[in-house]
Amino acid sequence: MLKLYNSLSKKVEEFVPINPPNVGLYTCGMTVYDYAHIGHGRKYVGDDILRRVLTRFGYKVKHVQNVTDVGHLVSDADEGEDKLEKGAAKTGKTVWEVAEFFTKHFYDSMDKLDVLRPDIICKATDNIKEQVALVSKLVKKGFAYDTPEAVYFDISKFPNYGKLFGQKLEEKKTAAREEVKTGEFKKNPADFALWFKRTGRFADHTMHWESPWGDGFPGWHIECSAMSMKYLGDTFDIHTGGIDHIPVHHPNEIAQSEGATGKPFVKYWVHHAFLTVDGKKMSKSLGNFHTIEDVEKKGFDPLALRYFYFTAHYRSSQNFTWEALGAAQKALGELRGHVDGRAALSQEKLEKVDAYQKKFDEALANDLNMPQALAVVWEVAKSNIPSQDKHDLLLDFDEVLGLDLSRKTQVKKIPDEIMKLVQKREDLRKENKFNEADDMRKIIEGKGYRVEDTEEGPLTSKL
Ligand code: AMP
Ligand code: ZN
Repeated sequence: MLKLYNSLSKKVEEFVPINPPNVGLYTCGMTVYDYAHIGHGRKYVGDDILRRVLTRFGYKVKHVQNVTDVGHLVSDADEGEDKLEKGAAKTGKTVWEVAEFFTKHFYDSMDKLDVLRPDIICKATDNIKEQVALVSKLVKKGFAYDTPEAVYFDISKFPNYGKLFGQKLEEKKTAAREEVKTGEFKKNPADFALWFKRTGRFADHTMHWESPWGDGFPGWHIECSAMSMKYLGDTFDIHTGGIDHIPVHHPNEIAQSEGATGKPFVKYWVHHAFLTVDGKKMSKSLGNFHTIEDVEKKGFDPLALRYFYFTAHYRSSQNFTWEALGAAQKALGELRGHVDGRAALSQEKLEKVDAYQKKFDEALANDLNMPQALAVVWEVAKSNIPSQDKHDLLLDFDEVLGLDLSRKTQVKKIPDEIMKLVQKREDLRKENKFNEADDMRKIIEGKGYRVEDTEEGPLTSKL
């Protein structure tokens, strides 16, 4: 039984989907105004593990991810410069070009880390209609109010605001008041923008659309509510993000969604801790980041980075150093060395193999405990179980790990068609039909595979 830490209850809970075996998973995506870095890599590899583990445990996952390509403001408190406009000014490109360029860079980086592509990738700019509809609903229901600058969500109308973290609203008001330099039309400093108008400080905003409140552009939070509910329904199973989304972005999403539908928004909230450098969050704004290209340029395999991420639990912060990455690369190389390129005919599974599989699954089920899972992987690698069982087991684990463990031998899995021919040849040999068995070997070789007869039985590998 999979257990996950739910930020909503602040407890590790048993995972019970709303409509099994289906699972709706929404993972907050990138604001595409600068290069994706290896801090992002940690978060999205974390999401990837969650998704792969759900699949391993028999769930049918629908994974949705947004791309924030409408510039949102540099601070979560509706102030500061527009991130995309800032990116455009820096690079001399249009905001649309900036968004396209960095979206591609992000997904290319994730491909290198073997992060499976979400089933649905949705851009904020492709879903303006849905966002406008949601804001209209909130205005109609009295959760939002129109001002000369923006349409704001009125948090005083949503008594459960902040329930995600047990924040006291009074404390939040003070914190927000200190931060907010603009937004004088807000009734309450912690109210947040649903729709910005293209006037005043936003008069030159490049991206803009028509709306019932005039020309303008959506606030950031509304896109995640609108698109997650569009694709996964009013209530869905799992929503993830970085821990920086806990104080503002996610409570805002809950308030907007539950305000509009009157139903619970999400059952389980999963938050990933940061990758740090010298104890500080690796971030675009601090400029202390490395990209996947930097990692490659230094001669590292991007999957060594993936291995490195697994050495810490996703809810603990993890400090990045090149030395630690070097150690991960060495460990990964060694692990790949334990994967034999030869597959055996399937026989009765050894009890030991079953036990290892169970142990690995228990680690995953324990709130995605990857350090614990890696320990099981090494136990298998160093064990004395027959080489072909080791091979099969490590490749089975690799369905979740995504470390390309068979890279050294270049054999993913011997196709079933080939293994059937090997079985036929074996049957012929047992019937002493050696000539026919030899013919069968030639057929197998013609298909690019070799069979060796060993004490452990016939072992098949790629020619
Ligand atoms: P951004 O577009 O920069 O807001 O980031 C997209 C996602 O990446 C958010 O969920 C962030 O929490 C996450 N993220 C950004 N920097 C880091 C980091 N250094 N470590 C882990 N996650 C990060
Ligand atoms: Zn989001």
